[in-house]
Amino acid sequence: MSDCRIYVACLASYNAGCLHGAWIDCTDLDSMQDQVNAILRASPEPNVFVTCPDCNGTKEKVLGHNSETGETRVGPCETCKGRGTVPSSEEFAIHDHEGFGGLIEEYTSLTRVAALAEAIEEHGAAFIAFMENRGNADDIGETVEAFTDAYRGEWDSEQKFAENLLDELGEIKGDSLAERYFDYEAFTRDLFISDYWRDEDTGAVFANY
Ligand SMILES: [Zn+2]
Repeated sequence: MSDCRIYVACLASYNAGCLHGAWIDCTDLDSMQDQVNAILRASPEPNVFVTCPDCNGTKEKVLGHNSETGETRVGPCETCKGRGTVPSSEEFAIHDHEGFGGLIEEYTSLTRVAALAEAIEEHGAAFIAFMENRGNADDIGETVEAFTDAYRGEWDSEQKFAENLLDELGEIKGDSLAERYFDYEAFTRDLFISDYWRDEDTGAVFANY
Protein backbone atom coordinates (compact mmCIF):
# COMPACT_ATOMS: atom_id res chain seq x y z
CA MET A 1 0.00 0.00 0.00
CA SER A 2 1.55 3.24 -1.06
CA ASP A 3 1.30 6.52 0.85
CA CYS A 4 0.68 8.40 -2.37
CA ARG A 5 -2.60 10.32 -2.57
CA ILE A 6 -4.13 12.87 -4.93
CA TYR A 7 -6.96 15.32 -4.36
CA VAL A 8 -9.36 15.03 -7.30
CA ALA A 9 -11.49 18.13 -7.88
CA CYS A 10 -14.54 18.28 -10.17
CA LEU A 11 -13.87 21.08 -12.69
CA ALA A 12 -17.51 21.89 -13.45
CA SER A 13 -18.06 22.53 -9.73
CA TYR A 14 -14.85 24.50 -9.44
CA ASN A 15 -15.85 26.71 -12.38
CA ALA A 16 -19.28 27.23 -10.77
CA GLY A 17 -17.59 28.45 -7.61
CA CYS A 18 -18.12 25.44 -5.38
CA LEU A 19 -15.66 22.87 -4.21
CA HIS A 20 -16.45 19.25 -4.91
CA GLY A 21 -13.76 16.62 -4.72
CA ALA A 22 -12.00 14.06 -2.54
CA TRP A 23 -8.63 12.55 -1.69
CA ILE A 24 -8.06 9.18 -3.30
CA ASP A 25 -5.37 6.59 -2.56
CA CYS A 26 -3.12 5.88 -5.50
CA THR A 27 -3.29 2.13 -5.88
CA ASP A 28 -4.01 0.42 -9.19
CA LEU A 29 -5.36 2.34 -12.16
CA ASP A 30 -8.79 0.62 -12.23
CA SER A 31 -9.49 1.37 -8.59
CA MET A 32 -8.39 4.99 -9.02
CA GLN A 33 -10.57 5.39 -12.13
CA ASP A 34 -13.57 3.96 -10.23
CA GLN A 35 -13.04 6.44 -7.40
CA VAL A 36 -12.70 9.38 -9.81
CA ASN A 37 -15.88 8.30 -11.66
CA ALA A 38 -17.75 8.17 -8.34
CA ILE A 39 -16.61 11.70 -7.48
CA LEU A 40 -17.75 12.98 -10.90
CA ARG A 41 -21.16 11.24 -10.61
CA ALA A 42 -21.69 12.89 -7.23
CA SER A 43 -21.00 16.33 -8.72
CA PRO A 44 -23.49 19.10 -7.90
CA GLU A 45 -22.78 20.46 -11.43
CA PRO A 46 -23.39 17.51 -13.78
CA ASN A 47 -22.91 18.21 -17.50
CA VAL A 48 -23.02 14.75 -19.14
CA PHE A 49 -24.72 11.37 -18.76
CA VAL A 50 -22.69 8.24 -18.13
CA THR A 51 -23.51 4.53 -17.96
CA CYS A 52 -25.30 3.65 -14.73
CA PRO A 53 -22.80 1.89 -12.45
CA ASP A 54 -25.49 -0.24 -10.76
CA CYS A 55 -27.15 -1.83 -13.81
CA ASN A 56 -24.24 -1.23 -16.20
CA GLY A 57 -26.65 0.34 -18.67
CA THR A 58 -29.07 -2.63 -18.82
CA LYS A 59 -31.75 -0.45 -17.14
CA GLU A 60 -32.94 -3.28 -14.93
CA LYS A 61 -31.69 -5.15 -12.00
CA VAL A 62 -32.37 -8.36 -10.12
CA LEU A 63 -34.97 -7.81 -7.41
CA GLY A 64 -35.16 -11.35 -6.11
CA HIS A 65 -34.55 -14.99 -6.83
CA ASN A 66 -37.02 -17.82 -6.24
CA SER A 67 -34.93 -20.84 -5.26
CA GLU A 68 -37.86 -23.25 -5.75
CA THR A 69 -38.87 -22.28 -9.26
CA GLY A 70 -35.46 -20.99 -10.25
CA GLU A 71 -37.09 -17.81 -11.49
CA THR A 72 -35.39 -14.48 -11.21
CA ARG A 73 -37.47 -11.34 -10.70
CA VAL A 74 -36.10 -8.29 -12.45
CA GLY A 75 -37.32 -4.71 -12.32
CA PRO A 76 -36.23 -1.26 -13.35
CA CYS A 77 -32.94 -0.13 -11.85
CA GLU A 78 -33.68 2.40 -9.11
CA THR A 79 -30.33 4.15 -9.33
CA CYS A 80 -30.98 5.35 -12.90
CA LYS A 81 -34.81 5.09 -12.75
CA GLY A 82 -34.64 2.61 -15.63
CA ARG A 83 -32.81 5.03 -17.94
CA GLY A 84 -29.50 3.18 -18.05
CA THR A 85 -27.56 6.39 -17.56
CA VAL A 86 -26.92 8.76 -14.67
CA PRO A 87 -25.81 12.40 -14.58
CA SER A 88 -22.14 13.13 -14.02
CA SER A 89 -19.61 15.85 -14.52
CA GLU A 90 -16.94 15.16 -17.10
CA GLU A 91 -13.64 16.72 -16.18
CA PHE A 92 -11.40 16.78 -13.16
CA ALA A 93 -8.09 18.23 -12.07
CA ILE A 94 -5.57 17.23 -9.43
CA HIS A 95 -5.65 20.10 -6.93
CA ASP A 96 -3.31 18.61 -4.34
CA HIS A 97 -1.11 15.58 -3.86
CA GLU A 98 1.00 13.81 -1.24
CA GLY A 99 3.97 11.49 -1.55
CA PHE A 100 4.96 12.44 -5.12
CA GLY A 101 7.43 15.30 -4.54
CA GLY A 102 7.22 17.62 -7.56
CA LEU A 103 6.23 14.91 -10.04
CA ILE A 104 2.48 15.57 -10.26
CA GLU A 105 0.78 18.45 -12.03
CA GLU A 106 -2.83 19.56 -12.29
CA TYR A 107 -3.56 17.54 -15.44
CA THR A 108 -1.21 14.56 -15.01
CA SER A 109 -3.07 11.51 -16.37
CA LEU A 110 -4.32 8.82 -13.99
CA THR A 111 -2.24 6.27 -15.92
CA ARG A 112 0.90 8.24 -15.14
CA VAL A 113 -0.13 8.86 -11.52
CA ALA A 114 -0.60 5.09 -11.03
CA ALA A 115 2.76 4.26 -12.66
CA LEU A 116 4.59 6.88 -10.55
CA ALA A 117 2.92 5.63 -7.35
CA GLU A 118 4.00 2.07 -8.15
CA ALA A 119 7.62 3.11 -8.78
CA ILE A 120 7.72 5.22 -5.59
CA GLU A 121 6.22 2.40 -3.55
CA GLU A 122 8.87 0.01 -4.83
CA HIS A 123 11.93 2.28 -4.75
CA GLY A 124 11.09 4.91 -2.11
CA ALA A 125 11.77 8.64 -2.01
CA ALA A 126 15.13 8.12 -3.76
CA PHE A 127 13.16 7.43 -6.94
CA ILE A 128 11.43 10.82 -6.63
CA ALA A 129 14.84 12.53 -6.40
CA PHE A 130 16.12 10.59 -9.41
CA MET A 131 13.01 11.36 -11.48
CA GLU A 132 13.16 15.07 -10.56
CA ASN A 133 16.81 15.12 -11.57
CA ARG A 134 15.76 13.79 -14.98
CA GLY A 135 13.19 16.55 -15.40
CA ASN A 136 10.21 14.25 -14.76
CA ALA A 137 10.97 12.13 -17.84
CA ASP A 138 8.07 10.90 -19.97
CA ASP A 139 9.11 7.26 -19.95
CA ILE A 140 8.66 5.94 -16.40
CA GLY A 141 9.64 2.34 -17.23
CA GLU A 142 12.93 3.48 -18.74
CA THR A 143 13.57 5.75 -15.74
CA VAL A 144 12.98 2.85 -13.32
CA GLU A 145 15.59 0.81 -15.23
CA ALA A 146 18.08 3.69 -15.17
CA PHE A 147 17.39 4.17 -11.44
CA THR A 148 18.12 0.51 -10.70
CA ASP A 149 21.44 0.78 -12.56
CA ALA A 150 22.53 4.06 -10.96
CA TYR A 151 21.35 3.73 -7.33
CA ARG A 152 24.19 3.21 -4.81
CA GLY A 153 22.26 3.36 -1.52
CA GLU A 154 21.67 6.18 0.95
CA TRP A 155 24.59 7.85 2.76
CA ASP A 156 24.95 10.44 5.54
CA SER A 157 27.47 12.38 3.47
CA GLU A 158 29.42 12.24 0.22
CA GLN A 159 32.55 11.39 2.19
CA LYS A 160 30.89 8.43 3.96
CA PHE A 161 30.10 7.01 0.56
CA ALA A 162 33.66 7.65 -0.65
CA GLU A 163 35.20 6.02 2.46
CA ASN A 164 33.06 2.94 1.95
CA LEU A 165 34.10 2.77 -1.69
CA LEU A 166 37.74 2.82 -0.62
CA ASP A 167 37.08 0.09 1.97
CA GLU A 168 35.67 -2.08 -0.75
CA LEU A 169 38.69 -1.47 -2.93
CA GLY A 170 40.82 -2.49 0.09
CA GLU A 171 43.71 -0.23 -0.93
CA ILE A 172 44.00 2.00 2.13
CA LYS A 173 42.40 0.16 5.05
CA GLY A 174 44.83 -1.54 7.40
CA ASP A 175 47.75 0.50 6.16
CA SER A 176 48.07 3.05 8.96
CA LEU A 177 50.40 5.38 7.08
CA ALA A 178 48.26 5.43 4.00
CA GLU A 179 45.14 5.93 6.16
CA ARG A 180 46.73 8.87 7.96
CA TYR A 181 47.89 10.68 4.85
CA PHE A 182 45.18 9.80 2.40
CA ASP A 183 43.28 12.89 1.33
CA TYR A 184 39.67 11.75 1.78
CA GLU A 185 38.29 15.19 1.02
CA ALA A 186 40.05 15.44 -2.33
CA PHE A 187 39.12 11.87 -3.18
CA THR A 188 35.45 12.59 -2.36
CA ARG A 189 35.50 15.83 -4.32
CA ASP A 190 36.86 14.08 -7.38
CA LEU A 191 34.28 11.30 -7.19
CA PHE A 192 31.44 13.78 -7.03
CA ILE A 193 32.67 16.04 -9.82
CA SER A 194 31.25 13.77 -12.50
CA ASP A 195 31.07 10.09 -11.53
CA TYR A 196 28.43 10.37 -8.78
CA TRP A 197 25.83 12.73 -7.41
CA ARG A 198 24.02 12.72 -4.06
CA ASP A 199 20.50 13.90 -3.25
CA GLU A 200 20.59 16.04 -0.07
CA ASP A 201 17.07 15.16 1.17
CA THR A 202 17.28 11.37 0.98
CA GLY A 203 21.07 10.95 1.04
CA ALA A 204 20.73 8.73 -2.04
CA VAL A 205 23.87 8.43 -4.16
CA PHE A 206 23.66 7.74 -7.89
CA ALA A 207 26.31 6.85 -10.44
CA ASN A 208 26.49 9.01 -13.56
CA TYR A 209 28.16 6.38 -15.72
ZN1 LIG B 1 -29.19 1.69 -13.54
